[in-house]
Amino acid sequence: MRHIYGISPEELSSLLQGQFPAYRTKQILDWLYKKYVFEPDQMTNLPPELKEFLKTGLSWEIPEIDARLVSTDGTIKYRLKLSDGSLIECVMIPDDKKRTLCVSSQVGCSRGCSFCATAALKLKRNLEASEIIAQVMIVARELYPQRLTNLVFMGMGEPMDNLDNVLFALKILQDEQALSFSPRRTTISTCGVVSGIKKLAESGIKTKLAVSLNSAVEEKRSRIMPVSKLYPLNELKQALFYFRRKTNFRITLEYILIPDFNMGIADIKALSRFVDDLSSKINFIPFNPVSGAEWRAPTTAEIDLFMQKAQSIRQAITLRKSRGKDILGACGQLVAQKGENHENSSANRP
Ligand code: SF4
Repeated sequence: MRHIYGISPEELSSLLQGQFPAYRTKQILDWLYKKYVFEPDQMTNLPPELKEFLKTGLSWEIPEIDARLVSTDGTIKYRLKLSDGSLIECVMIPDDKKRTLCVSSQVGCSRGCSFCATAALKLKRNLEASEIIAQVMIVARELYPQRLTNLVFMGMGEPMDNLDNVLFALKILQDEQALSFSPRRTTISTCGVVSGIKKLAESGIKTKLAVSLNSAVEEKRSRIMPVSKLYPLNELKQALFYFRRKTNFRITLEYILIPDFNMGIADIKALSRFVDDLSSKINFIPFNPVSGAEWRAPTTAEIDLFMQKAQSIRQAITLRKSRGKDILGACGQLVAQKGENHENSSANRP
């Protein structure tokens, strides 16, 4: 059975056509995407026969908030339980006037990046488009009357490995009749899956792209990111050029700072060469330790020194603050395991 969050506004309209007046589609979409009401019985302006039609023809099951954890910096990590019992996480990061939601695209991940806790879970399954949208709607309802302003696919999983569902979810989320999320405020992040980058560029769905680069030295990148053996740096770069040409969106490169690994002069020079003719922005992110990782976090002095040297790179560079570290909600720390110190009391709501 199709899920209510897995059908587009046009599909909903076709479903009702001939049985209910056209204006009913808008009423339902308003309940779902503007009033955050997830149950037909609570849609008070719908007639009983339409509520019955919706309840029997579509699935309405919404993931349960299994736990929420609030960081001292305001970041909130949600652990959601899906209908098959799988656990995923999404993280809401407030920053001044921005409220960014980092969503998951898979249960686990098969890409095996060595700095990432999700990698240890291996891939369990892809998320349905409705499960991706449900993450957004659940958190949007939690935040109301404040609004989510940005959406990033940087949670659990590699979005390019579930691209059809990610794109379908984005199409609905960006639809003016649904959540109307601006393409400029949505970002898909990839570890560098070249085939996916090309497919995204050709998809017609508009979104920004972020690439987890972490080293522009081939052997080093391959050591921490197995994807680089499949798609070497030169192929990745060609795909980024292609994405730029097709979409006109500037690309963000994410670079995790790992002491004694990718913070030396030679690393900066290699990075500088890689980005030289590519219009991009580079985010440097201090490594967040995950259990079992062989790396440590850089010290403040190491970060300062690196950032001074990185000024030689002829692209926009920023040092991203790590958010939600105390709740294991920062980059690469999402594992959705029961052992974590989550709170499930509503007293934790902001
Ligand atoms: S960093 Fe992303 S692609 Fe790599 S293992 Fe983690 S979730 Fe997968």
